[in-house]
Amino acid sequence: MRSEAGIDGRLRGRILSAAGTRSSHNHEPAGTPQTMANHSPTATVTDPRGSVPQSPAEVRALQQAREERERRVTARRRRRLRQMRLRRLLVLALIVTFPLLLTEGLGHRPVKATVGDRTVWTWGHRSLASAVGKAGLEPPRGDRVDVRGRVLEGGGGEAALPLVGGRVVSYATPVRECRRVSFERGEDVREPLEAEATLIASATGEEWRDGWKPEYLAGRAAVAGIERTERGAISGAICLQERSTAEPIEGGAGAALPQRRCLALTFDDGPNGETTREILSILDEHGARATFFLLGDCVPGQPDIVREEIAAGHEVANHSWGHKQMTRLGPQGALASIARAERLIQDAGAPRCRWFRPPYGATNAAVRRAVLEAGYSIALWSCDTNDWQLPGADTIYRRIMAGARPGANILMHDGGGRREQTIAALRRAVPDLIAQGYELVTLSEMTALTAGDDAGMILRTETGMWRAHLPEEPIAVSVDGVELTGVAPVLVVDGKVLLPAPLLLTALRADWNWDAEGQTVTVNSLRGAFRFRLNSALVSWDDREVVVDVPPMLYRDTPLIPAWALAWAAGAVLVERHVGVASLNFNLGAAAPLVQPLQD
Ligand SMILES: [Zn+2]
Repeated sequence: MRSEAGIDGRLRGRILSAAGTRSSHNHEPAGTPQTMANHSPTATVTDPRGSVPQSPAEVRALQQAREERERRVTARRRRRLRQMRLRRLLVLALIVTFPLLLTEGLGHRPVKATVGDRTVWTWGHRSLASAVGKAGLEPPRGDRVDVRGRVLEGGGGEAALPLVGGRVVSYATPVRECRRVSFERGEDVREPLEAEATLIASATGEEWRDGWKPEYLAGRAAVAGIERTERGAISGAICLQERSTAEPIEGGAGAALPQRRCLALTFDDGPNGETTREILSILDEHGARATFFLLGDCVPGQPDIVREEIAAGHEVANHSWGHKQMTRLGPQGALASIARAERLIQDAGAPRCRWFRPPYGATNAAVRRAVLEAGYSIALWSCDTNDWQLPGADTIYRRIMAGARPGANILMHDGGGRREQTIAALRRAVPDLIAQGYELVTLSEMTALTAGDDAGMILRTETGMWRAHLPEEPIAVSVDGVELTGVAPVLVVDGKVLLPAPLLLTALRADWNWDAEGQTVTVNSLRGAFRFRLNSALVSWDDREVVVDVPPMLYRDTPLIPAWALAWAAGAVLVERHVGVASLNFNLGAAAPLVQPLQD
């Protein structure tokens, strides 16, 4: 621009000097004597006020000179105009190409690449993905398939794998590093699985069908059977159906199921002062035990009675705070009422209640679910004496005896009013029942929630039968030499130790999840994706199904997985020792070789 101004300036100077020449008749610029000397005639002629006559020849010469001068000026102007246009073009070209130069970089060269069966020219630093796009190529993707391997959506699977010299490369690799690319068809993607599992009551629990819905038992049964269905989430195709059953064995593994005639007497709405004490003395007299469903609001005034009940071997259970109808309170209100009662009962020195009996027996699906999730089993009854209506001691007695059968759960009341009729009926019924061969036991004992099943149990699945029992001696479990506390429950199944999966997998810092809906535990590690189905010897490992020698089990609402399988899935090494006490150490530090088989 400055040079243009210079040109203009010079140009203006010339024109000015010409004008000056014309108008400088009387006072010529001192600095142009030379010009004046050379062109003195012209100067005379061009004087506008020139009064000197000219000859035609002179006029023509002057004219020619003038034209010559004008031609030269015009030529100069054109030249300058051309130069200006050229400069503008250059600047424009620079503006346009600069970003391009920046992005492509000056050092890159175009390269020729063979992508699949096509040849493309592209910049060497461009990604393989862009070259594939430029070649108009669609490398073969895998399909989306259903659980049985049938195609659901062609091309809905994984992208094709690009290979250079037989090695898999990334689509982000620069083209110059992979001039000859072939493609391997992408993997098929299997639709997600939906697993649904229903807990089924232990075999003995199922015998008590009327009044005892197996689902209530299953919620807390130490060993539950599982009925499982797995289907494709998209296709709905069923790919697995399994059923396992569990039977508690009293007297230890291998013992025959004893034929006991057990019966549970249950008393609601207490504690209730002397009435309760009288019932306790009748039971004590005959060595009978019973279950007391306590009202939380009745406990604080008479905690001694709760302690007497427990000391005599009876079971105490939860009957809410305030005896409200749980269906009116809703799940949250019901839980609050149960929790308030539970606190007061435990404050009186009782262990945590296993059972909850809803006032009036009123529940609905939402309340039942909330109560079961809070860890209670719901206890109703198989025989209602309706003793609170005061029908007379004889009637109550007859109803008790009519309702008696193995597994019966007979409902009476020690609280909520005068109970002389109940007490009188009980004085006759307790010895008579014992005479008929009944053992009067607590609800938990009757449903084998206490000692019986811990002694031993049998798990049957489609593929086999296993005997499980509690370890005969304590087992120390450690991770990298640091002993874990509170490792419970632990089972021994055919000589293999089963440990609580949530506790161990957390300690092993595994990426894991327990799906209660499908009763499966999934673990992801460097060794792959594992899916343990509880009560099933079938374990999914990546896309394979592997049969293991000892199945993971659901025991006391806790998923238990064989120790060696936990170690394997979590990427740890298991070292078993027996120095005075059996010990299992999971070593996270030393990564095990991946060639070790899944089978122990
Ligand atoms: Zn009640």
